[in-house]
Amino acid sequence: MSHIDINSAVKAYGSLQVIHGIDAQIEDGEFAVLVGPSGCGKSTLLRMIAGLEDISGGEISIGGRVVNDLLPKERNIAMVFQNYALYPHMTVAENMGFSLRLQKASKETIRTAVDRAAKILGLEQLLERYPGQLSGGQRQRVAMGRAIVRDPTVFLFDEPLSNLDAKLRVKMRAEIKSLHQKLKTTIVYVTHDQIEAMTMADKIIVLEGGNISQIGSPLELYDHPANRFVATFIGSPSMNILPATVASEKEVVLEDGQVLQLENSFPASRKVNVGIRPEHLSLSHDGELYAVVELVEPTGAETLLNLRVGKTEILASVKERVDYETGTPVRLTFDKGRHHFFCDDTGEAI
Ligand code: ADP
Ligand code: MG
Repeated sequence: MSHIDINSAVKAYGSLQVIHGIDAQIEDGEFAVLVGPSGCGKSTLLRMIAGLEDISGGEISIGGRVVNDLLPKERNIAMVFQNYALYPHMTVAENMGFSLRLQKASKETIRTAVDRAAKILGLEQLLERYPGQLSGGQRQRVAMGRAIVRDPTVFLFDEPLSNLDAKLRVKMRAEIKSLHQKLKTTIVYVTHDQIEAMTMADKIIVLEGGNISQIGSPLELYDHPANRFVATFIGSPSMNILPATVASEKEVVLEDGQVLQLENSFPASRKVNVGIRPEHLSLSHDGELYAVVELVEPTGAETLLNLRVGKTEILASVKERVDYETGTPVRLTFDKGRHHFFCDDTGEAI
């Protein structure tokens, strides 16, 4: 069993608190992704789980055992970093077996463990090569092999794909996910890339400024964001946010004065934000939302329309191949079940 319980975890560097009392549970065998913008505390929290940073307050346990005071090597975890720094003078096999050699494991044990990891990762043909003779993706795979060899109960990844080019990142993303399906080991994976989080995670933990913003499955976060931060962070392009004022139980008024018929149960004159994803907007001659074209970006698969509603810039991702001059008025419709309301002040979903 290697579930992870994080209870009121706090991290402070001197008087500067950067993790503000976080609670999260990661189930045994789960692929959990910690995601959030740069500086929100992802690496710090991961390093607290690893034992590379001490915990200023609260408790972290792995497999039911409190690890606050255990050394990293006593926690039975393996970590893969962005800078995976293989030893250049060692072969792939030697790099992968290095931690076992440090533990004075027998040659036989090391060979068995390295062969097993090499087989899982498809590195069998590369074991005698040196890191300098490998591609970026192969090097990344060796770094994962080094972690697998240790047969940990938890894998911790900190932005392991950030140094790879876009195409390779997509490929390695799939490889790590299928690795998890083979090994079924608990994974905590840090990334600032919401697409990585969406495509890989069983559970996403969204961090913002050292606090948890929301925890849920990828589609729960997409369908039911708890606040404006998660709504605009998850999903690409970002959800459009339209400031509005409630007129009645069936109507809201946008900033430019146009009225949208939206069922709501809020008191009149309450300020709200209406959230609509670009992919839920479509062009329609009798659409209820009036906008003006700023820019048209064809991607081939779809067309991205940069639009303006009053002073608010929005995006619509539409199937049609259209081409409009800047300033052309258009009308849009949207699926009434798929809009969101947020409190204008707090950003909480309402
Ligand atoms: P992320 O990985 O999400 O980009 P980090 O966990 O690295 O963010 O950092 C979270 C916050 O903690 C940042 O504001 C960072 O400046 C601060 N921080 C990280 N390490 C230290 C340190 N050793 N001393 C002081 N502040 C730190
Ligand atoms: Mg980081």
